[in-house]
Amino acid sequence: MINLFEKFKGFIIDLDGVIYLDKKIIPHSKKFIEYLIKTEKKYIFLTNDSTLSPDEYSEILSEQGIPCNLDQIMTPITNLLEMIKNKKIQNKDIMVFSSTKLKNYLKSLGINIIEDKNKFKKIKTIIVSGNLEFNYDDLMYASLCVQNGAKLLATSTDNTYPRKIGNVPATGSIIAAIQKTCPVSAINLGKPSKSIFNLAKKKLNIKRQDILTVGDNLNTDILGSNLSKLKSCLVLTGKTNLATAKKSKIKSDYILNNLKI
Ligand SMILES: [Mg+2]
Repeated sequence: MINLFEKFKGFIIDLDGVIYLDKKIIPHSKKFIEYLIKTEKKYIFLTNDSTLSPDEYSEILSEQGIPCNLDQIMTPITNLLEMIKNKKIQNKDIMVFSSTKLKNYLKSLGINIIEDKNKFKKIKTIIVSGNLEFNYDDLMYASLCVQNGAKLLATSTDNTYPRKIGNVPATGSIIAAIQKTCPVSAINLGKPSKSIFNLAKKKLNIKRQDILTVGDNLNTDILGSNLSKLKSCLVLTGKTNLATAKKSKIKSDYILNNLKI
């Protein structure tokens, strides 16, 4: 598909279902990245999965022979840091409802996290990220924080997450449960939010019309790309098949079976 790719100078590329599945490389994706490097295109990997840090993603990709530096990996946490940098979110009185691993990572980045749940009345911002440790206590305190005026930030709004046993509740379902207790809108740090695509565009430092988003998810990759007025390419190696793509109201500019060059 050189004819398509050569039209663009920068690429925003999803990971799961595009580059790898279950962290195993998808055929053609490595050659695709090699092509981008050879032709001096710029690229950024943009994933909604904040369970791993950019260092860990970089390591996984490098092990598979896909070179990328830390600046080329973006997760919803990259967007959070940008919002803090731009003072859209204050870095104080933050409570985090996530896996311990993500919480520790946020602490290592200098995020001021309040651990004592009894302080829910003074919390200004909560960050919610779906995780296996989530329990009723978390739901209760997350609800109490927003009832007392805290901003609600979500690392994604995906309702389910595919596991071997089936589709299990993801961050979006937890956000919905919080919103059932208190009608508050959530700020989505991940795709399809315009903010994360605009940040990716800013990092690429390339004109909008010269950027192609490559993803397998209509509701996140393609919708977000459309909202940000970027060209998009749906690849059918992950979440979406052709029948679903044809039925959907969300349309990509291009559809490819795979990333074969
Ligand atoms: Mg994906």
